[in-house]
Amino acid sequence: MPRRMTAAIIDGKALAAKVRAGLGAAVAELRAKHGRPPGIAVVRVGEDPASKVYVTSKEKTAQELGFASWQHHLPETTTQADVLALVRRLNADDAVDGILVQLPLPKHLDANVVLESIDPAKDVDGFHAVNAGHLFQGRPSLVACTPAGVLRMLDEIGCRLEGARCVVIGRSNIVGRPMAMLLLNRSATVVICHSRSDVEAEVRRADVVVAAVGVAKLVKGSWLKPGAVVIDVGINRDEAGKLCGDVDFEAAKEVASWITPVPGGVGPMTIAMLMSNTVAAATRRLQLSSTRTS
Ligand code: NAP
Repeated sequence: MPRRMTAAIIDGKALAAKVRAGLGAAVAELRAKHGRPPGIAVVRVGEDPASKVYVTSKEKTAQELGFASWQHHLPETTTQADVLALVRRLNADDAVDGILVQLPLPKHLDANVVLESIDPAKDVDGFHAVNAGHLFQGRPSLVACTPAGVLRMLDEIGCRLEGARCVVIGRSNIVGRPMAMLLLNRSATVVICHSRSDVEAEVRRADVVVAAVGVAKLVKGSWLKPGAVVIDVGINRDEAGKLCGDVDFEAAKEVASWITPVPGGVGPMTIAMLMSNTVAAATRRLQLSSTRTS
């Protein structure tokens, strides 16, 4: 990749709009062939304010794309049995192609048990062990939306991953681990860093850095290899209360070849990939059901 003076910005908002626009034709085709649009059900439990914002934004995007969407808002005191009963109902509902249980759940609920109760074919968040396992084995699956969005960004800029040294900082099930698997499946040489790693030493050798930590400006510009591609997943507040990522953007953009801003980088891609997963789940389910009935 040619070295630039200042990094080019990867515009997540523009790319997310492009992804959404690309889904329009698939939605129209599903309607024409099967008589209905993709359907997504979003489950929210309790009053977490951030969850409310996320869920509203997901539902709005789904509606703009012409999906059928249902929001199930359960009270904070809902029992595990009641949440599981709702997921069972949604699993059995043929109009529902995608089920998303918004995290975090209230503390008395076991998120792992709830997520594992979702039919893997409808697991549009890609968190079910079956889908995570398929990703681990390099088989097609519904992939967690944020890392899927990051990969889409890397593809968009034409970043060559084969043989590239990619450092993923963070090992969560939601971002770090699936991100590392996606890169490995593209034949990158992948290093996964966490709280006990020498992050600086690894970043210094990286062609691609994906930071998914949750520590404001952890990655310094001086750590980066000149020309590195930097993807910042983190959403934090700096000392002044301003939104910022896990990378010191101002310094990093002087060294990197490409970089994502925060906000306006990875964030918008997550919802776009959720919609893409829902279209993929609907397509697979409707194809299967028409094969069964023909
Ligand atoms: P998480 O579950 O808290 O995981 C954070 C990871 O970072 C852990 O693996 C942790 O290591 C590691 N870590 C913490 N401090 C570190 C340090 N000083 N040096 C190296 N590694 C360190 O977080 P997450 O859910 O993956 O999210 C990460 C960030 O991405 C957060 O800011 C979150 O808000 C953001 N996020 C953004 C989106 C989006 O759509 N843009 C989506 C999801 C998450 P250990 O495992 O050793 O504890």
